[in-house]
Amino acid sequence: MEMEKLVSLCKRRGFLFQSSEIYGGINGFWDYGPLGVELKRNIKDAWWRDMVTGHDDLDTLPGAPSPFEMTGLDCTIIMHPQVWKCSGHYDLFHDYMVDCRESKGRYRYDQIKGRWVEAKGKKIFATAGSNSETPEVDIERQALKFFGMRSKNADELKWDGPLTSLTTLDSFEEVLAPDAKSLGTLTEPREFNLMFKTTIGALGGEADTAFLRPETAQGIFVNFKNVVDSSRVRVPFGIAQVGKSFRNEITPRNFTFRSREFEQMEIEFFCHPDSSQKWYMYWRDRRYKWYQEMGLDEKKLILREHTPEELAHYSIGTADIEYAFPFLPEGEYGELEGIAHRGDFDLRSHMEGKLDPDTKPMTVELNEDGKPKHRGSGKDLSYRDDITGERFVPHVIEPSAGADRATLAFLCEAYTEDEAPDDKGNMQTRVVMKFHPRIAPVKASIFPLVKKDGMPEMAKDIYRSLKKDWNVFYDEKGAVGRRYRRQDEAGTPFCITVDGQSMQDQTVTIRHRDTLEQWRVKADDLTSELRKLIG
Ligand code: ATP
Repeated sequence: MEMEKLVSLCKRRGFLFQSSEIYGGINGFWDYGPLGVELKRNIKDAWWRDMVTGHDDLDTLPGAPSPFEMTGLDCTIIMHPQVWKCSGHYDLFHDYMVDCRESKGRYRYDQIKGRWVEAKGKKIFATAGSNSETPEVDIERQALKFFGMRSKNADELKWDGPLTSLTTLDSFEEVLAPDAKSLGTLTEPREFNLMFKTTIGALGGEADTAFLRPETAQGIFVNFKNVVDSSRVRVPFGIAQVGKSFRNEITPRNFTFRSREFEQMEIEFFCHPDSSQKWYMYWRDRRYKWYQEMGLDEKKLILREHTPEELAHYSIGTADIEYAFPFLPEGEYGELEGIAHRGDFDLRSHMEGKLDPDTKPMTVELNEDGKPKHRGSGKDLSYRDDITGERFVPHVIEPSAGADRATLAFLCEAYTEDEAPDDKGNMQTRVVMKFHPRIAPVKASIFPLVKKDGMPEMAKDIYRSLKKDWNVFYDEKGAVGRRYRRQDEAGTPFCITVDGQSMQDQTVTIRHRDTLEQWRVKADDLTSELRKLIG
């Protein structure tokens, strides 16, 4: 599937719009249209239902070490700035960027890829930026241009070594930047913190600086004690949260995949250190299965364990669930969700504030003894098991998913072009969004075959009765084939048509979006029939 087709369908049918489009848009921000908002909400609701409210805490679920409880939270976007100091985000949450003095382009240091190439007695490192879908092709084109050669002479270019990242180079002198004509135009890499800053209150001094949260997780950690003290949960248990997060990404790209404002669906699962490895494996496998149950093709989905070099300094194990997004080069995958075994890093940091002596304090406030004031909260965040009497700092398993990336993956997966008969019975190409019925924005559309003989009245009655349970749609405009097509593009799994026979025997037809199969059911049985079909 070509990405342009999906992007244009998203705009045409109201799944996604560029934010502030009438002012020329704003890079890295997206709005969900009438269909998109339903789709994304259904995904978040399915996640919440499957992970939290529908969770069976009485039995041991398949693959789980023991029964466990799940509960939820909804925390603020702006939190005490010290949260970000202790979480490590203030000091460590940055990317490195390089600027091009010639093109004025700004790139993420680790995302520039290139190859060494020699011609006319000169060797250069030709590169492609992160937006390139075909880096090898773009690099060759760039090298030819630099050497003033024609593409028919491409075999005179002498390549040395495979495609590699700019990060492997010691000097940029021989680098031809992605959009430059001359060599050595890139600046040295510079740190760039990804947190958005804001100011609290009217006075607005340095001490009033606050940050928009770059992840929802910290709200859960700092409320751990509140949840334990106010509800009956006992370790092992999980706290879930869905909400907005903000990251000032250097190169937002690939539609909504890398945005500056996005939504996360996160779980922090608290367990005893002795069983944390088993819980890590449980969550990793369960979350991987969930995407498949919701309709992602197993062949396009991988579960990738991080190598020891990739692991964050605190992590004992991390796995990513990755999807073969169509905008990525063949064989590459993009992260949908990370499942991390975080040990006791977070709770301990918020207790003790393990400040790294090499990192800068947020604002240099010193105690009387001259030591930095900023430590952890000083609150005891350990847990006491009231049955065994044991006190410990729980380990945490964190399945952290992006609602927008999941929505984008479901959109990519759903986009299908196939053949279906039109009103005259001729086969025509149709675009159909094959969403799983649980996440489809509209569950059913109700049509009177013609606008007379009591059909609209009966169809409207059906519409009103189904609307109590689902988002359904009524359409009486145009030929019925055209109406089917409109619903196919919206991904509506079922179309219900009231026709002449309905007036006689009170039955209607249901048409299945994917199989095009049609069958008759009694109008009175529609609710139970749809319940079976939607699940
Ligand atoms: P990446 O390496 O792609 O930047 P990450 O490893 O930094 O992602 P996490 O910090 O693990 O991401 O965040 C958890 C989830 O939040 C990701 O798996 C992704 O689904 C989502 N997410 C993170 N950053 C973005 C973003 N800029 N736009 C949309 N979703 C995001």
